[in-house]
Amino acid sequence: MPDDKAIQAAQEMEKKLATEKAQSTAVQTDPKAETAEEKKASSDLKEGEDKSAAAMGNMSNINREFQEKSVLKQAESLNLPYVNIGKTPLNPDFLKLIDVETARKARIIPFFRTGKKVRVAVQDTNNSDTQASIKALQDKGYEVNINLASSSGIDDALNIYTQTQKYKKLEIVETVEQKSIKTYEKEIAGLKELTTKLDTVTAEEGLNLLDVGAIKTGASDVHYEPSEKSVTVRFRIDGVLHKVFEIKPDTYRRIANQLKYSSHMQLNVTTVPQDGRYDFKFNEQRIAVRVSSIPTPYTESFVCRYLPSEEIALSFEDLGFQSLALAKLQKVCSISHGMVLVTGPTGSGKTTTLYSILGKMNTPEAKIITLEDPVEYNLHGITQSQIDEKRDYDFAKGLRAILRQDPDIVMLGEIRDLETAQTASQAALTGHVVLSTLHTNSAIETIPRLVNMGLPPFMIGPSLNTIIAQRLVRKVCPKCTTMEPISDSAKKEFEAIMTTLKNVNSGDVVVVPEKVPTAHGCDECSQTGYKGRLVICEVLTINNALKDLILNKSSLVDMIGVARKEGMITMKEDGFIKVAQGLTTLEEVYRVTNVLD
Ligand SMILES: [Zn+2]
Repeated sequence: MPDDKAIQAAQEMEKKLATEKAQSTAVQTDPKAETAEEKKASSDLKEGEDKSAAAMGNMSNINREFQEKSVLKQAESLNLPYVNIGKTPLNPDFLKLIDVETARKARIIPFFRTGKKVRVAVQDTNNSDTQASIKALQDKGYEVNINLASSSGIDDALNIYTQTQKYKKLEIVETVEQKSIKTYEKEIAGLKELTTKLDTVTAEEGLNLLDVGAIKTGASDVHYEPSEKSVTVRFRIDGVLHKVFEIKPDTYRRIANQLKYSSHMQLNVTTVPQDGRYDFKFNEQRIAVRVSSIPTPYTESFVCRYLPSEEIALSFEDLGFQSLALAKLQKVCSISHGMVLVTGPTGSGKTTTLYSILGKMNTPEAKIITLEDPVEYNLHGITQSQIDEKRDYDFAKGLRAILRQDPDIVMLGEIRDLETAQTASQAALTGHVVLSTLHTNSAIETIPRLVNMGLPPFMIGPSLNTIIAQRLVRKVCPKCTTMEPISDSAKKEFEAIMTTLKNVNSGDVVVVPEKVPTAHGCDECSQTGYKGRLVICEVLTINNALKDLILNKSSLVDMIGVARKEGMITMKEDGFIKVAQGLTTLEEVYRVTNVLD
């Protein structure tokens, strides 16, 4: 799997290089990205031989162009490929093939690799040092493809090399040690203090501080948003973005470079979006960080998603499923065929619910294959496959491939189009369990959505087993929450909902509360008033009565009537029940149920 990914990344890069060569436009090295400290480090190593792009004026740009053209001609006469190495994206992983001192001496840059094939840029094929390092690669079993490059180009690339080496040195402290966690804990006690701390520590330590800060506050994502004079850092905690602090552009540049280095992004590429990944250890837990960058007018903006990489097997109760909804979900785990759909907008916890169902279905007898975009958690005993639209491996194609692997249970990240919907319901009709997600506002709306996609009702009814619509509400902080008398308007709404619920046989005990939770904020909950999240949901079982209604293209109103008879309560009703139980606030329920996707 990692090999596949590497090859795929390499192939993408090859494509990129090819187009770049054809268009002769290239990604520029951003001279601003180099801080004073880095300049010093690189000039120390460069022994006074400073030809950095930043130092070059207009005249030298013209000279440079001339130089590149003449090297191109020279390459043609030698029957060698030419590479404009100064403008080629350099990947630290490829650079590692030759150590920096050797590269400097031999004027050679390894800039591309797939498996055992390496492409190197050299200044002079007759140089004995160059020949020696090519031979060293060949002795290691590499097939070496030699490309001619200009002397200035090699200098520019060596510059990047030096930066990479510098980060490599820092990288030695890759994991956050127990001892330093204690120190960090104090640092992060007031996250606001982090901003001054970041100015004084190394880039590596700075990133560690931010990682620990994210984990300790329970943030799922950290957003770095540069503007002209500062960079805003926001943490997404329990689904809501909080502005944590601002950092200075200089400090940010160092951290951004470290982030790119750690996540194996190309350091000298600043004008196109990149994706990467790294992981670190915290309290014996390995945490993966998925990093994505986009170019902005003020350097790059990053979003880091923190993913605990260990198996997640949350119980339905832990997620917030109760009474009849819980019973229905437990029943779903033992079905032998049929489609189970979880619906809701992005960030509504659909994947977690699917994973929990999968966790329950995961027995040694069952063959389970997933198709995800991307794989977020590693599940033991399950074959996980990642779609890649760029390589034409989409949900529809992937699903057909998966079905040839004789699975019992298939999990599909999302149903986006008719082709996928058709293949999925076909699979459900032919004896497979198919789990997937869909973007709809409510459980019942899933049916017209599938119809509108073009799936015929005679396939929808028989293939559908259960639809779960859900949202996530934040749980109130147990330390600082108080119970306050309910307002008159809220009480009225409560009473109306409770009256409805009395007529629905959902198994929920319903009483209008005198007092409801009110969020405040304390150290325990990072001043948000909330800690953790739970599901509010509606679970619709497609019984025979509903199947008939679907076949007969009956109205939604009729379908809702049948669903109600069968005990379905709505997400909003479930939310009100959870407010009455003191788990969340009315504000939270309104927030998530009023948003239409
Ligand atoms: Zn609190």
